[in-house]
Amino acid sequence: MEWIYDIIEPVYFVAAILFVLALRAMSDPATARRGIVWAGIGMFFAVAVTVLIPATFYDGGITPTSTLEVNFVLMGIAVAIGGAMAYYAAIKVKMTNMPQMVAIYNGMGGGAAAAIAAVDLMRNGLPSGLLGGLPSGAYSPLDLVGGMIGSVSFAGSLIAFLKLQGWMTQKPVTFPGQNIVNSLVLILAAVFGVLFVYDPALFAGIPISFLALFFLFGLLYGIMMALPIGGADMPVVISLFNALTGIAVGIDGFALTNFAMIIAGVIVGAAGSLLTYLMAKAMNRSISNVLFSAFGSKEETGVEIKGSLKPTDPDDVAMQLAYASKVIIAPGYGMAVAQAQGKVKEMCDILEQKGVTVKFAIHPVAGRMPGHMNVLLAEAGVSYDKLFDIDEINPEFATTDVAMVIGANDTVNPAAHRQGSPLFGMPVLEVEQAKAVVVLKRGQGKGFAGIENDLFYRDNCKMLYGDATDSLAKVVQALKKL
Ligand code: NDP
Repeated sequence: MEWIYDIIEPVYFVAAILFVLALRAMSDPATARRGIVWAGIGMFFAVAVTVLIPATFYDGGITPTSTLEVNFVLMGIAVAIGGAMAYYAAIKVKMTNMPQMVAIYNGMGGGAAAAIAAVDLMRNGLPSGLLGGLPSGAYSPLDLVGGMIGSVSFAGSLIAFLKLQGWMTQKPVTFPGQNIVNSLVLILAAVFGVLFVYDPALFAGIPISFLALFFLFGLLYGIMMALPIGGADMPVVISLFNALTGIAVGIDGFALTNFAMIIAGVIVGAAGSLLTYLMAKAMNRSISNVLFSAFGSKEETGVEIKGSLKPTDPDDVAMQLAYASKVIIAPGYGMAVAQAQGKVKEMCDILEQKGVTVKFAIHPVAGRMPGHMNVLLAEAGVSYDKLFDIDEINPEFATTDVAMVIGANDTVNPAAHRQGSPLFGMPVLEVEQAKAVVVLKRGQGKGFAGIENDLFYRDNCKMLYGDATDSLAKVVQALKKL
């Protein structure tokens, strides 16, 4: 097996190149699938060569051959169980359940990083002989940092999963002095970690070790950090935990001098941090506001809206659309809830056959996860060249006959221009500039921010009430008759 040593670094290098190319490909929906495959191949080789390295098992008195035999069986079982579960879950998961799937997988990454750090700390911390004769050595403070970040990410991601899956309340869980209590938990975790590194045998008689306390408080901090965040803010938080998982893996990589872990960790950490920043920016909120303000627990008061809500019916809407020359569709979270993307595509095809130009206005945070609308519309077969970013499409509303808002609310709310509104400063789709606006929603439900939307009361706006799929089915029927 000596030859393995010669191929470790070259294989890691190829894997790293594949990761970078994959990330690049994933930045465009047209090449995203290819990116996923490249990343998968890179990860396969990185894992395979790591599994094969006799050096990974540290030879402290154990002959590589016997260790290899034992570990291959255990690793084989672990990979088979984990792989089968992940494959089954990935095949079964619905598009709308994707955020919680990402949350749980991300949590597993954080948990793995914490476990690796824990093993390294224990190996170095216990008298030799306790862990199968592995040698004791110097502690790596990096293991403490990696272990801490990994456990926070693991526990926080599990709370995010429970909230998004609806297995616990989606509302922010708050109590007085929360931020102080949370900080204390974090400080205590750090104190226990330092005490362990200082002297693991200190207070040897106490029943629980400082290392266990360090990880317990790390996990507790992850839970406490995620509790005050509302369900709808969770995608931002998942992205943040994703970045933390990457950082934890990268730090573990430094502690173990494993280049694949360093590179993969740095890529995930950097991409996750950037995504978190961009999402918070698109909602015009700082990351600390997302984390600490319990957004969604308060409503805006004292705003008086003039005008009235004007209901319309599918026949009228079909008539307006059929005789328009340009229609822009602004989809939002309600389209995802109703799974209306198939009907949207059907309507779009009919309109195009009638010579109407149809475009889609995609707000960066429409829905509940990054790229939510792009993924749903792509799933329904809407071609990418019909989807336009907010900056490209906003100047076009003024020359549009009908703007059709499907289950969107905050992302089309002109309150974003009103000082004092929770949405103030958030870039919004300026649908109100179109000659006519039709809004599809079920009733008077508010958007994620919980504030009124005066767009619905404007003179050029009509409301088509009902589930978006039902309403669109009726519009399609009516269009077919025209
Ligand atoms: P909103 O959540 O603001 O509004 C959705 C609207 O859809 C509601 O007003 C609701 O009204 C309507 N709706 C719900 N179900 C249906 C249905 N079955 N048929 C028709 N309509 C329905 O959505 P937007 O997409 O406009 O905005 C997204 C919000 O989420 C933003 O505030 C954004 O900041 C936030 N967010 C987005 C993230 C992302 O990554 N994309 C991450 C975190 C937060 P009614 O009940 O009357 O039907």
